Amino acid sequence: MAAEVDHLGGDQGADRPRGRRGRAGHPGAPDHLRQPGRTPVPHPDPREQLRADCGRCAGLCCVLPAFAASADFAVDKPAGRPCTHLQGDFRCGIHADLRDRGFPGCTVFDCFGAGQQTVQVTFGGRDWRGSPELAAPMGTAFGVLRQLHELLWYLAEALALPVAAPLHPELAALRDRTEQLTAAGGDELAAVDTGAYRAEAGTLLQAVSELARAGLPGRNRDRRGADLVGARLRGADLRGASLRGAYLIAADLRGADLRRADLLGADLRAADLRGADLTGALFLTRPQVAAARGDAGTILPAVLEHPAHWGAP
Ligand code: SF4
Repeated sequence: MAAEVDHLGGDQGADRPRGRRGRAGHPGAPDHLRQPGRTPVPHPDPREQLRADCGRCAGLCCVLPAFAASADFAVDKPAGRPCTHLQGDFRCGIHADLRDRGFPGCTVFDCFGAGQQTVQVTFGGRDWRGSPELAAPMGTAFGVLRQLHELLWYLAEALALPVAAPLHPELAALRDRTEQLTAAGGDELAAVDTGAYRAEAGTLLQAVSELARAGLPGRNRDRRGADLVGARLRGADLRGASLRGAYLIAADLRGADLRRADLLGADLRAADLRGADLTGALFLTRPQVAAARGDAGTILPAVLEHPAHWGAP
């Protein structure tokens, strides 16, 4: 998949742990990210709404991107071609065995609810199989909505931070504008300058980050965009550090103290978070967590669940 420019957090997207997610066995159940046997605690947090509902989508994330055969995907697939495992009802034929069948990348991707928004709202319930002429505009709209929904995640988090109260009016205005935009038609979405939009949001979120990290030991530790691939950071005190857009691929973060660290856009693929404390970590998302390793000792922000593949708590 081609790298994207992310003006929010670094030189790659905040969704960098890219992959595809599975079609759940029943509508609206992104269950590969849930802990088996664990009843989710209800949250009033608006981020709970920014969750994929695969049963109301049309397999967009199984069609639109290209896959390169790798540790994440067992096969090559060109962009725009449906994955061979995508069934007629838009569900994944190997959903229960994605990791064992060589598709762990599919368990990591999260559209933040952009899939069902595209199909049900932007295109009124139509899909690319019944209306092949919609395939291209649907793909364009999904790409824009994916970014807008991710931005709504960050804005919801920022608006929940009391310390960011001085910025709440600006944040709320941007949230309202973004929500209105997500209800726009395909042509209007296609015209959105996502780069400029994300740049504007990035500036605001950076200000939120500085407020939230003020007074913490690592607040001046600026590792934005740092190459920390494979870094040995076991037990490191990274409280309040800015790791925005940092490359933490396969980094050893076992037992690290990442409380209030800014992780917007940090690449956590295969990062070892076992025993790490991410209480209050800023701008951390489900796909980042799903791409990392962790265990029952990993402490996540309250809105995030331990992925199923981390094992039982
Ligand atoms: S294996 Fe194919 S159908 Fe299943 S989730 Fe991945 S891309 Fe979608």
